[in-house]
Amino acid sequence: MSHIFPRNSRAALPMVARGEGVYLFDTDGKRYLDGSGGAAVSCLGHSDPDVTAAIKAQLDSVAFAHTGFFTSEPAERLADLLIEHAPHGIDRVYLVSGGSEAMEAALKLARQYFIETGQPGRHRVIARRQSYHGNTLGALATGGNMWRREPFAPLMIETSHIAPCYAYRGQAPGESEREYGQRVADELEEEILRLGPETVMAFVAEPVVGATAGAVPPVAGYFQRIREICDAYGVLLILDEVMCGMGRTGTLFACEQDGVAPDIVIIAKGLGAGYQPIGAMLCSGAIHDAIAAGSGAFLHGHTYMGHPVAAAAALAVLTRLTAGGLADRSRVMGERLNAALEAGFGQHPHVGDIRGRGLFRALEFVEDRETKRPFPPEKGLHKRLKAAAFEAGLICYPMGGTIDGRQGDHVLLAPPFILEDAHVDEIVDKLGTAIARSI
Ligand code: PLP
Repeated sequence: MSHIFPRNSRAALPMVARGEGVYLFDTDGKRYLDGSGGAAVSCLGHSDPDVTAAIKAQLDSVAFAHTGFFTSEPAERLADLLIEHAPHGIDRVYLVSGGSEAMEAALKLARQYFIETGQPGRHRVIARRQSYHGNTLGALATGGNMWRREPFAPLMIETSHIAPCYAYRGQAPGESEREYGQRVADELEEEILRLGPETVMAFVAEPVVGATAGAVPPVAGYFQRIREICDAYGVLLILDEVMCGMGRTGTLFACEQDGVAPDIVIIAKGLGAGYQPIGAMLCSGAIHDAIAAGSGAFLHGHTYMGHPVAAAAALAVLTRLTAGGLADRSRVMGERLNAALEAGFGQHPHVGDIRGRGLFRALEFVEDRETKRPFPPEKGLHKRLKAAAFEAGLICYPMGGTIDGRQGDHVLLAPPFILEDAHVDEIVDKLGTAIARSI
């Protein structure tokens, strides 16, 4: 009997034995193509020699030194490289151990910034329905994934949720994409005015929505309008790039493609690429400087923040993504994957939408393509797809997102950036088998 407290007490899982490139192998020797990089984590694939060498070298010099006493060379170099490639105005890096920790740090930094700048009334957070920002209490409160939040609602900070930018379902007949984007962005202004601008500290959004909706990119102009509204009311813009960042959408930061710069941006998953648990909160110089000139210290911290071995791994990953050109490869291979998905499933009677950017792609399934009616939740389509794909030797990330109260099914694909054309074919082939067996 296993003493592990599992994610799902009803499912017995195979034991992983090793990883090599885009494949994982279990102890029975079965091979799985890691078509979702776990949950958009393994951007370099498995057993990357550069990253494992960097980890070993760091272990040989020093594994851990508390950040209350020391900084370390890999942490400093990682921060420098991140800032070299960061969105305009982003100037400081706060290293943590994962995405939820990064979200908590972002929320607390925003709050402290307003206290230090003489606006203590600002404490409210606005986010979007159909979003996920992590599982710790602040991050969970921020996310708009209602079934995850509900049991813990009494423990949560106050947040409100506006509509996501989700053109496939939200765009009205006769409305252009741009008009749609402006309309849903304007909900932010309405909500700020409803709450009282002097009480609102931040708007939080994933540039390309990941798990809850399935690789949903914004329409053109949406984030520019969001930025305008944030600026008009002095609200901080926090972008959550935990899933869509680090080259996943074809540029190092996803928001680059929307011509918008946040005040705070958080990253994780692809930063450590699965080799070490690491995340980061990056903020503008203005926020950092206000605290530096005020109390002098951000009232936050974790024991393992800035861990030298995790930083060394992330530095090796980031070097591959930038100087090694792998973020660009995500864009090129993403276009190939998209073309193959369109060719394989574009006419499928139950595939309503194929979308995404870079190697961050999704298919949304519908019972009826004309009306976009989802399958009934009792069918549990996303669960069946996951099981059938796994059986066929493909790891993908199906979810039953909540579509404004109704249930929907999508499959998220986020394979390692090192994948080759033959792997694209294998993904489409195995996904086709899984779809045929599940619907
Ligand atoms: N934000 C987004 C967009 C995510 O997708 C996730 C995890 O899936 C998180 C935050 C939380 O990250 P972690 O699971 O590393 O705490």
